[in-house]
Amino acid sequence: MIVMRAMDKTMTCAEFQDALPELFESQSDLTGHEHLKSCENCAALVRDLEYIASQARLLLPIHDPSPAVWNNIQQAIRHEKPEPPAPAARK
Ligand SMILES: [Zn+2]
Repeated sequence: MIVMRAMDKTMTCAEFQDALPELFESQSDLTGHEHLKSCENCAALVRDLEYIASQARLLLPIHDPSPAVWNNIQQAIRHEKPEPPAPAARK
């Protein structure tokens, strides 16, 4: 039984996400990446990352995000959850 040999050319999600920090630095337009054409999951992840990265660039003038920064971004995405309701106004 041959299982998805045609997919050999394509990265797995894990491989793609592993390479994301490098891809981000080397390629300005990740949305054209091969993997994203067939993977809505990673396409959504990249959109989130691009949004977060653009926000982070506004907040922190870093041109060379360290792996730790990327780690934080990825952690933030994994733990993404709705904002808790605002606490009642204090006096
Ligand atoms: Zn994927």
